[in-house]
Amino acid sequence: MEALKEKGINPGLAVIIVGEDPASQVYVRNKERACDECGIYSEKYALPKETTQEELLNLIDKLNKKNDISGILVQLPVPEHIDEKTVINAIDPKKDVDAFHPVNVGKIMVGNYDFVPCTPAGVMELIDESGIDVSGKECVVVGRSNIVGKPQAMLLLHKNGTVTICHSRTKDLKAKTKNADILVAAVGIPNFITGDMIKEGAVVIDVGINRLENKKLCGDVEFESAQKVAGAITPVPGGVGPMTIAMLMKNTVKAALVNKTK
Ligand code: NAD
Repeated sequence: MEALKEKGINPGLAVIIVGEDPASQVYVRNKERACDECGIYSEKYALPKETTQEELLNLIDKLNKKNDISGILVQLPVPEHIDEKTVINAIDPKKDVDAFHPVNVGKIMVGNYDFVPCTPAGVMELIDESGIDVSGKECVVVGRSNIVGKPQAMLLLHKNGTVTICHSRTKDLKAKTKNADILVAAVGIPNFITGDMIKEGAVVIDVGINRLENKKLCGDVEFESAQKVAGAITPVPGGVGPMTIAMLMKNTVKAALVNKTK
């Protein structure tokens, strides 16, 4: 970080949270902590749940113009009276470290991007760092959200994987998952993918973060049965979650570079 600062590149992250959703509070706290650990300047805006959409948009506009802020993140979900799409569209695409703005989504589609959404980026980093070659592999992504499933599929495609996206209307899911060399689960249902749905030796990446009634965290993959079949598998907690935060730090530094040259 010091080397960057000597070059006049000063990353700064603004994190906005509206309301008191407990999971969101934890995520925001973790992001602030990561900034501190990396020496990245950060500002937190904790707004009451009654905040109007106009007030939120005014804050985003102010941060878009603020020179010491290179990245802006609005923790989702926002309260129901605020339109999520309008909020995402208001963030300057050059400061959009979550890469949710349609400009950045489009750039990912054509394979010419500055920012990649943090969770799919973290998954790709795990795959890369583990020396797994995606090219020509059967990749199955379970989940088609804008935040995880869709960009994940696109990133695997850019690495020349043969990608199948499965979702809530997919017929015979097991036949699809059983065919996967690389299986990414982003469903949001605890222990949804079981060992009998996994091909012997497959790489299994569990994006899910689900809180059980006993307060324990668990993924979308039933770890016990899956690990017996998988060639490699990520745990929850301690797998994709920390990678997501690491990628946010990377995007914030990238944003400082992008904004310096804007
Ligand atoms: P989402 O609810 O927006 O999407 C879930 C997807 O699962 C949908 O596309 C839906 O079609 C699919 N689905 C639902 N039921 C299904 C079924 N029976 N069969 C097949 N597909 C089905 O969720 P999301 O935002 O993509 O998040 C998914 C999970 O990942 C959640 O547990 C979330 O908490 C977690 N998550 C983790 C991180 C991280 O940092 N690790 C980041 C974002 C989300």
